[in-house]
Amino acid sequence: MASPELPIRPLYINGQWRPGSEGAWAEDVNPATGRVFARIAQASPADVEEAIATAHAARVPWGRMLAGERSTLLLKAADVIASRADEIRDLIIEENGSAFIKAPWEVSYAVECLRVAAGLCYFVGGDTFPASTPGQIGMTIRQPLGVIGGIAPFNSPFLLTMKKVAFALAAGNTFVLKPSEMTPLSGLVMAECFEQAGLPPGVFNVVPGPAEVVGSALVADPRVRMITFTGSGRVGRLLAAQAGAQMKRFTLEMGGKNPLVVLADADLKYAVDSAAFGIFFHQGQVCMANSKVIVEDALFDRFAEAFAEKARGIQVGDPRDPATVVGPLIRPQQCTFIRGQIDDALAKGARLLAGGTHEGPFFQPTVLAGVTPEMAIYHEESFGPVTSLLRASDFEHALAIANDTAYGLSSAVITNDLQKAFDFAMRAEAGMVHINDTTISDEPHIAFGGVKNSGFGREGGHTSIEEMTELKWITVQMGQRAYPF
Ligand code: NAD
Repeated sequence: MASPELPIRPLYINGQWRPGSEGAWAEDVNPATGRVFARIAQASPADVEEAIATAHAARVPWGRMLAGERSTLLLKAADVIASRADEIRDLIIEENGSAFIKAPWEVSYAVECLRVAAGLCYFVGGDTFPASTPGQIGMTIRQPLGVIGGIAPFNSPFLLTMKKVAFALAAGNTFVLKPSEMTPLSGLVMAECFEQAGLPPGVFNVVPGPAEVVGSALVADPRVRMITFTGSGRVGRLLAAQAGAQMKRFTLEMGGKNPLVVLADADLKYAVDSAAFGIFFHQGQVCMANSKVIVEDALFDRFAEAFAEKARGIQVGDPRDPATVVGPLIRPQQCTFIRGQIDDALAKGARLLAGGTHEGPFFQPTVLAGVTPEMAIYHEESFGPVTSLLRASDFEHALAIANDTAYGLSSAVITNDLQKAFDFAMRAEAGMVHINDTTISDEPHIAFGGVKNSGFGREGGHTSIEEMTELKWITVQMGQRAYPF
């Protein structure tokens, strides 16, 4: 039973709000205070089955709807979200621990994402070809896949979920969302906004619930033609193997150990500010965070001193305070995990230049130097406000350190030497490279994604439309084809 004094949030299936069929509820916890602020209905396998069935039925009328009508609905949803921006911002702060500087960006990104997707409804197109067969015309058309299952992470729940949903719907698909168990309300409020905009029942369904139960049910069901997953490498690998066995399309957006390279000619203050934004924004819980900062020898000592000083000056604490940069980590266990990485590094000879401790869920901005490949933190994602400064003897050495990772999501280089900047961009083993910027950059209309263990497939704009549609080759024979017998 749901506790009567707390708000309860039901599942959203076929345009209906209702409890889970097994009557299970889970707590939604504020990471900053530990306070339970809502109870969330938990989907059972039967509920997931119903959500898939309803999305499967809705896929036909939704897929056939005129592009202009779909576009209008997405634009309406954008307007609804814009009109509820402050409320959604506050929810993201409460549920996710986002600092005040990050939560409004999630909301405005979601609005922009819907507007980009609304435009793309008109451009779900293919090509025409000169055929090699005399008298033949060849063309490709794009058709919706049908039902898409989305599995979302906790860290930017509104933004990352919208990036999946908006383009899936624009391409004519219907959607079943499994939000993170740590941020389910963000998905449910998104459903409210779509409902308010007039989205037909069944087109978007939200089924929070136990990760393995709901996630595996989505992956296993043959009516779900694609899974779009964002999350950790551990879970991504597991689900990709299951999806592979089902011959199911899958996009994987996973973690990173993203290098920011600072060459000796860089402006020191700009480089320090870039590196700080790239790791301390959202307390480092960003897949693109620059958790490796590689500095050319001639600048290293001055950079390390200025960067450590900047880290020590960053405000940590209440995410509702607009001056706070580093809010709480999502759960206290995450602090224990990061402290373990730091202890391992220190035991093997690393030096702590700033931070290293935490009070409750609030981890101090942390800077390590002397990190080597023998240390876990050299290789592993921390997903917290901790970065390693690595000294490079020259450009080639910096590039080698940058690529010395199993991941390949984002990377960046700060230099005014255009030759070296482009050389870096061409040779970096990453899905995204930013010149004279940090590793954190995400825009809804541009292909986002990684290589190596950071995943495969791209999200954003046209690339999402391509990932989320089936390409069909159609030929028309003008007159009769000459067969050999
Ligand atoms: P996670 O892998 O723990 O969870 C992601 C989603 O998978 C959640 O919805 C979770 O409930 C679900 N899940 C967990 N176990 C499952 C199982 N056995 N079966 C089915 N579903 C399961 O990741 P997280 O902690 O929520 O997010 C942080 C991770 O996500 C980091 O590694 C981060 O780098 C990555 N991330 C990547 C991107 C990107 O675009 N590349 C963006 C954001 C976050």
